Amino acid sequence: MAGTVSDMSVRRPFAARIVAVAAVLACGLVASCAAAQTQATPPSSASSSSAALPSGPPVTVPGLSSAVPSSAEAVVSPEPTPEPEPTPPEPTPEPEPLITAEPPQTEDAGDDPGDDYQESEPAAPAPAPAPAPAPVSGGKKVVIDPGHNGQNAANPGIINALVDAGFGETKPCNTTGTSTNDGYPEHAFTWGVAKKLQNILEASGVDVIMTRPSDDGVGPCVDQRAAIGNNANADLVLSIHGDGVNNQSSTGFYVMTASRVPASAEMSARSDQLAVAIRDGLVDGGLSPSNYLGSNGLWDRDDLAGLNLSTRPTVMVESGNMRAAADAALMSSDDGQQKFAQGFANGVLDFLGS
Ligand code: ZN
Repeated sequence: MAGTVSDMSVRRPFAARIVAVAAVLACGLVASCAAAQTQATPPSSASSSSAALPSGPPVTVPGLSSAVPSSAEAVVSPEPTPEPEPTPPEPTPEPEPLITAEPPQTEDAGDDPGDDYQESEPAAPAPAPAPAPAPVSGGKKVVIDPGHNGQNAANPGIINALVDAGFGETKPCNTTGTSTNDGYPEHAFTWGVAKKLQNILEASGVDVIMTRPSDDGVGPCVDQRAAIGNNANADLVLSIHGDGVNNQSSTGFYVMTASRVPASAEMSARSDQLAVAIRDGLVDGGLSPSNYLGSNGLWDRDDLAGLNLSTRPTVMVESGNMRAAADAALMSSDDGQQKFAQGFANGVLDFLGS
């Protein structure tokens, strides 16, 4: 609709492997999420449809103004914390996975019964201090960047303004993103997953910073989003997007890193590590790598502002193809978004522990 932005700027990648990048989706920190790309040699053996990639035309995003059921807001409801009695010390047989199936905790889930305990029992062995949520990542800072925003489409003047994109280049401030063919917008998907992921990570003791506070605002611009991670000295930055390619057989996620080095070589290596961790976390969560772009779920890119401006370990993820029915069903449902969130959390916590 009005205000749709597409980013067709393409640069030759430095990486020798990528021979031709035609149109670039843009998700997020960068451009529109509708990607039309060709790769000379799809390294993934799973790619069965690489020749059928659509090329070119900027993708318009219909229906962004439609009233979409915002499953994004449907955060998992807090459960009344059970835990009535101090359990005897358990023989812990094996190291637990970083994320357990504990319910995500919310603000009001933190009332420990310990406050009003009574001193009538003299000889009782002191109950263990409140069980820590997960022994993982205290003090770690994670920036979650949910791509786009709900009012971007209504504010073309703001989101079309050019901003710094790194390496002396400029890009539009932000874009509208893509949507499913039924009109479920990318910004709602990214917001829904981001909030669920925030819950999981905070329950594990991670300090989470979101690049936008709601799904009904405008922006922020890509340079501002990157600055949030840089200024916070984040341990990692995860930018969440959804792709929009008009091909029903193109499905799956891919995790993108910067092929140009915006910070140090060491930071680039950490970003590559993060990409593998996120990829593996999503696979462990039951999600499939892309069968149409990247290689085995990974893709080095030289044209994404969010990556090119970041001085922290950073990846940007196209979580699936919202235009393909199979991915769309998953991406627009509450259960599906929880699945993505858990997959991301798997990768994030694995990376933080490494
Ligand atoms: Zn996007």
